[in-house]
Order: sequence, then C-alpha cells, then structure tokens
Amino acid sequence: MEFRLIDRIRERTALAREDVRLGIGDDAAVLAVPPGQQLAVAIDTLVEGVHFPHGTAPQDIGWKALAVNLSDLAAMGATPAWALLALTLPQGDPPWIDDLAEGFARLAREHGVALVGGDTTRGPLCLSVAVHGFVPAGQALARSGACVGDAVFVTGSLGSAAGGLRLVQGRLPFDPGNEAHRSLRARLDRPTPRVRAGVALRAHASACIDVSDGLLSDLGHICAASGVGAELDLDALPLLPALRSVFGHAAARELALTGGDDYELCFTVPTAAVGPMQAALAEVGAHATRIGAVIEGQGVRAIGGTALAAMRGGWDHFGA
Ligand code: ADP
Ligand code: MG
Repeated sequence: MEFRLIDRIRERTALAREDVRLGIGDDAAVLAVPPGQQLAVAIDTLVEGVHFPHGTAPQDIGWKALAVNLSDLAAMGATPAWALLALTLPQGDPPWIDDLAEGFARLAREHGVALVGGDTTRGPLCLSVAVHGFVPAGQALARSGACVGDAVFVTGSLGSAAGGLRLVQGRLPFDPGNEAHRSLRARLDRPTPRVRAGVALRAHASACIDVSDGLLSDLGHICAASGVGAELDLDALPLLPALRSVFGHAAARELALTGGDDYELCFTVPTAAVGPMQAALAEVGAHATRIGAVIEGQGVRAIGGTALAAMRGGWDHFGA
C-alpha cells in the first residue's frame, strides 16, 4: 500500500530540476547547491484539528503544508528549490492522497519547487514539510537587523485568516453563499507565501519575519532579536474590506494585531531605502503598507499610546 501511495504522490508532483541529481525512489535524495549560494532550510508540521480544522479539503491541506514553509523561506529572502514531505495518514485512501498531492503540486509548480523525498506512515493525520532554498552567501534576511528610525512595513493584509477561522469555528457561522465569508475562508485555507516579495526585499530590508502567530507576537520577535522597540500606527493596518464588513472595524483591527496564519511578511527598512524597496516590490507585483517605526526600548506599542501586550492572542502551543 505504502509504495503505491508514494508512486501516486511522485506522479502528481513531478517537476524537473537540473540540481536534483537523485529524487524520490532511493534511500536519500542527492542535490547540488549552486556555487556561491547558501542553503536556507525550514520545517513545519501541520496537525489536523490544531493547524487546520477537521474536514479541511485535502487540496487545501496539501497547499497549506507547503505554503507555511515557503513563507519561512520568503522571510529569509531565499529562493525555494526542494521539499520533503513526511505524511502520517489514518488510512491509505488513494483519491484523498491524489487530491492532497494536487494541492501541494499546484503551489510547488508556481515556485518551481521539486518534491525530492519524504516518509509515509500510518497514524493520526499529520504532515511535516521541510523546504530548502538558496540565498547568496551572507545575504539572508535575519530578524536581528532592525535599527532605531527604520520604517515598519507589512505585505498584503492582516487578520483575514483569523477571521476565516472564526467563521469555521462557528459563533458567526460560515455561509458559503456569502462572498466576504468565502474570501476570508480562502485566506485561511490557501495562504499566499510572499516568496517573490521576500527575494526582492533582500537588498532593502534590515530585518524580516513572516506573520504566522500574529503581528504583535511576530513584530515582537524582530524587536527582541534586534534589541529595539516598535511603534504602530493602528489606523494604518491593512484590513481587507471583507474583514471589516463581517466583523466591524474594532474586531477587524484586533484580528489584524493578534490573529495568526496570515503568512504576510513584516519587515523593517531604513527610511532612505523605502522608495527603492517599494519599486522593487512593485516589480514583482507585490505591495507593502507602512505601519510604524522602530524606536528605542523594547516591545510593541501604539503610536502615542500604551504598550500592546505582545503575547495577547499570539499563538503559543505551550502557553499557560
Ligand atoms: P526508506 O525506507 O529507505 O526510508 P521509504 O520506503 O520510506 O524509504 O521511501 C522510499 C522513497 O520514497 C524514498 O526516496 C522517500 O524519500 C520517498 N518517499 C516516501 N514517502 C514519501 C512522501 N510522502 N513524499 C515524497 N516522497 C516520499
Ligand atoms: Mg532506505
């Protein structure tokens, strides 16, 4: 059963890359790193009921498992190349596996990522994806380079995935006939990793992180790693009209500050580099909004206001 499943995954994710000397089928993949490049490597696990709701479509699970990892590479300014997929499945259901592989492959093809190996075992539904990307030696975007005076930016919009999750969890029930509901749900199920933006930012940003746990929490990580504080203009937070129309302005802002799963990039830029940075993003069809500034001190606060509790709502699996 296992080998036939692996074959189904291999067929559906096939993508030729010259640097894959040996892919799926041997004991290990053999890969060639281009000269002058460093490898950026990341792994993330998705557990059913924890990282995606029970009943999520297999295509969406496959897509999201890769997306959250490509987002980590994007945050480093790395160009993705290879992935590994460790799958734990309650049963070997071929059509379900096909759909999962299709969702994974669709995003992998968009970014030229080859699936070069993995592992397949039986158990409660869980996926671990590891990704490998290239970054010119010494040019990776770390969390630790933010300087006082830098501007703080975020790509795309915030809070939509958390809004989608609220709808799935049902206090305000998901209505498939409601276009705003559908667009928020799509942000939860099919996040867009900002890969091209991350590569474009390499030459301009001083620090970068992807927003997986919520803006306050993740910008807080940049602040801690850089030894600085940050001041946010709460009126500048980019919110989708759908988020505001479904939840109202105040709740939408709260979701934008504390909701997870957006997979946007939050980054800092020296003010002199803001123009060139925006031009570089426009060239790859990306956009970012200025939401604040790096200041002396520590933690994240609202402009002219009090400290925003950094962990409030930020997702912490082992938190009290
Ligand atoms: P081994 O027992 O030597 O680890 P496996 O039987 O687990 O080998 O896997 C056989 C081949 O299939 C290996 O190349 C492995 O990387 C690949 N593989 C296994 N499971 C997956 C998967 N879910 N996705 C992609 N490749 C896989
Ligand atoms: Mg082996």
